Amino acid sequence: MNRNSDRSDVPVVLLVSGMDPTGGAGMSADIRTCTAFGVYPMSCVTALTVQNYRGVSAVRPVSSQLLAEQLEAIYESAMPAAVKIGMIPNAAQVRTLARVLKKHGQHNVVLDPVLTATAGGPLTRQNAAYAMLSHLLPLTDIITPNAKEYDYLAGLTSKVQMSPLEMSLAALLRKGGDVPGDQCSDSLRMPDGTSYTYSTARVPGNNLHGTGCVLSSAIAANLALGFDIPAAVRRAKNFLTSALRTSSRCHITPDYGPALTLIN
Ligand code: PLP
Repeated sequence: MNRNSDRSDVPVVLLVSGMDPTGGAGMSADIRTCTAFGVYPMSCVTALTVQNYRGVSAVRPVSSQLLAEQLEAIYESAMPAAVKIGMIPNAAQVRTLARVLKKHGQHNVVLDPVLTATAGGPLTRQNAAYAMLSHLLPLTDIITPNAKEYDYLAGLTSKVQMSPLEMSLAALLRKGGDVPGDQCSDSLRMPDGTSYTYSTARVPGNNLHGTGCVLSSAIAANLALGFDIPAAVRRAKNFLTSALRTSSRCHITPDYGPALTLIN
C-alpha cells in the first residue's frame, strides 16, 4: 500500500505573537482561530505578558536569540503557507524576525501592528514601531491597523523617510471597530489602488478582547488555504463577527471578555 496516496496536506500557519495568560488575545486567540479554519498553527512566542481585563501589568520579551531559534526550529520542520505577526515588543526582535522571514522567502505575511492593549498598557516599545515600518513592512502582504495604530504609524512614516502607508507594496486594511457608530466598517486598499469595504452591524457588548488578533490570524489562515487577500479578509471578518456574537452571550471575565472563537 502506498501510504503517501492517503496523505492530505494541511497548510501550516506561523504565528509570531505574545502570550496573554487569560487567553483572550495573543497566541491563544491565534491558535484557536487557526484551529477553527482547519490549518495547523506553529507558534513562536515573542513575550510573556501579565494582563487581564483590567490591563497589562508586565511584559517580558524573549531574547532575539531565542526568537531566532524558535523560528529556525519551525522552518526546519515545515514551510509555513502564511504568517501572522502580532505583538513584537522591541526593535531587536523586529530586525531578527525580518531577517529570518527574508532568508526563507516567506510569502503571505500578515502584520497586525499591535502597539497597546485596549484595556490599557503598552505592549510594544516606540522604537519597535519605527523598525516595523523600515524592516517588516517591505516583507508584508497585508497590514491591519486599527484607527489609532494607523494614525500613529502614518505619523511616523515621514520620520523614517519612507512613503506613507498607502504607498507601500502591502495591502492596507484599516479597521473601523474602534470608530464609534452602528456599523463596523473596515476598508481594504490593495497595492494597485483597488479598494473594498467590509461593513457589519456592530455587535453589542464589551467582550472584545483579542478581536484584532482573531481577525489577523483568520486572514493568515485563509491566505494559507489559498484565498486571495480580498476573499481572505471577507471570510476573516465574517468569522470575527460570528465570534463576537457568541462572545456577547458569554460571561467569562467580569468585564471586557474574550472574542470567542468556539465552533458551535
Ligand atoms: N496581549 C497580547 C499578547 C496581544 O497580542 C494583544 C493584541 O494583539 C493584546 C494583548 C491586546 O488585545 P486587545 O487590545 O484586543 O484587548
